Amino acid sequence: MADYDLLIKGGTIVTAGDIYAGDVAVKDGKVALIGKELDLPARSVIDARGKYLLPGAIDVHTHLEMPFGGTVSSDDFTTGTIAAACGGTTTIVDFAIQGKGQTLAETARTWHQKAENKAVIDYGFHIAVTDMTDDILAEMPQMIADGYPTFKLFMTYDGLRVNDDVLMKALILTKEHGGLVSVHAENYYIIDYLVKKFLAEGRGEPKYHALSRPPLAEGEATGRAVKLAKLVEAPLYIVHLSCQEALAEVVAAREEGYPVMAEPCPQYLLLSYDNYEEEGFAGAKYVMSPPLRPKENQAPLWQALAKNRLQVTATDHCP
Ligand SMILES: [Zn+2]
Repeated sequence: MADYDLLIKGGTIVTAGDIYAGDVAVKDGKVALIGKELDLPARSVIDARGKYLLPGAIDVHTHLEMPFGGTVSSDDFTTGTIAAACGGTTTIVDFAIQGKGQTLAETARTWHQKAENKAVIDYGFHIAVTDMTDDILAEMPQMIADGYPTFKLFMTYDGLRVNDDVLMKALILTKEHGGLVSVHAENYYIIDYLVKKFLAEGRGEPKYHALSRPPLAEGEATGRAVKLAKLVEAPLYIVHLSCQEALAEVVAAREEGYPVMAEPCPQYLLLSYDNYEEEGFAGAKYVMSPPLRPKENQAPLWQALAKNRLQVTATDHCP
């Protein structure tokens, strides 16, 4: 009988603290031994020379089978989780989006039905609150108790956004019950003004999507959310942080000791506003919110990740 189920030989092992050549032995689905030149009986052996060997990644921001703008995002829990596994991601946390009039418990059930018997990797859910009422606020503690401790609130978008007082109430509730609020942080009024202005001027090309949602709008909303969290001493998580203006707010709060966390996404680390200038309709492929930013934002985001000023990268996968 082989002692180990799997022996992975000669890979370049990447951990949170180190990168080194080595072998990994697996038993009962768990890493049992890491060492050099392991010569052990195993049921199967993988030659990993020339390959990286790293823990399964967790993508904490995905949108599978998400209704949006009259259609549904193209990856469901089968195709999306297969794609994730191919890239080394073994867990996703998808956003269960509340439908109008739905309770949060119903929202979670809806997403469980989408994922059941389809996902090929582990998954969990954040609850994205889109129809906030006093009843929904009152439901949040029970959701935390039931295993859904993270909520996303929108500071922009007609019909979805919450005002500062409601955001503050949600922060207090999650703090008291051990949950965490995350926010889509952009200033609604700046964007509303600029969108109307550009449309009135006949400027509808893809780049005006970006120009109507400037970094200042994200920086302002991020700073406001951070200040509300500071006021009530609640932790806060900023999703899809894209620019220096927002980064500065997070870094300043962290340096004061506040538990503010944020995630940049690969698109903000690797692509830039220049993509909107591509010929014809090509620029439209990059329409997202927040939009891609001028290139000079990339290096500060990378540096912040390296220094734990930003804690996470996540994809916001929503093709
Ligand atoms: Zn998202």
